[in-house]
Amino acid sequence: MKRPLEGVLLDFDGTLTKPAFDWPAMKDEMGLLDGDISILDYLPTQSPERAREISDILEKHELRAADKAEANDGAHDLLAYLRTKRIPFGVVTNNAERHVLKMVKKINVSFEVLITRDIGYWKPDPRPMLAGAEAIGVTPGKCVVIGDGKYDMMAAEAAGMLSVHLSERSSIPSDLTLRTLREAPALLDQLLDT
Ligand SMILES: [Mg+2]
Repeated sequence: MKRPLEGVLLDFDGTLTKPAFDWPAMKDEMGLLDGDISILDYLPTQSPERAREISDILEKHELRAADKAEANDGAHDLLAYLRTKRIPFGVVTNNAERHVLKMVKKINVSFEVLITRDIGYWKPDPRPMLAGAEAIGVTPGKCVVIGDGKYDMMAAEAAGMLSVHLSERSSIPSDLTLRTLREAPALLDQLLDT
């Protein structure tokens, strides 16, 4: 029996785009010893001076990633599939809107719903996911989240959504895993009443 799922929330970086961030290198440059901490959550705990230094490093890496962004294999097909099947979907990202809009143009994708960190909270907080669900008009319990990151899975779980980890060798807790984005339409066919 199909689960009563109706909507899809997608991560952006490393999900619709090819992975372009070297998070360990960036955290190293920031002098962040705890590799597990979210940079965005760490920032407000620091002095204004140190926070500025870290923001500048983050901005530099995000700009670099935006400049060389490439569509992930299967990204265009997945978006076409969602549109053809009239499945409500949106993008929920911890990136800033200004970077995402630049990449959207560069990799030639489009979507109507985009939730970024500019709303003032970010994954692993469930609120961006809940905002995404509301924006696509689907109750959280009927949403599927596809993302390549640990925070995607944590936020999805906290929001009561089905989590699908995009990874060739997933070691992160999630409900399901997807080895490549190319396999996403077949998986969604099983999960949603399309
Ligand atoms: Mg990602």
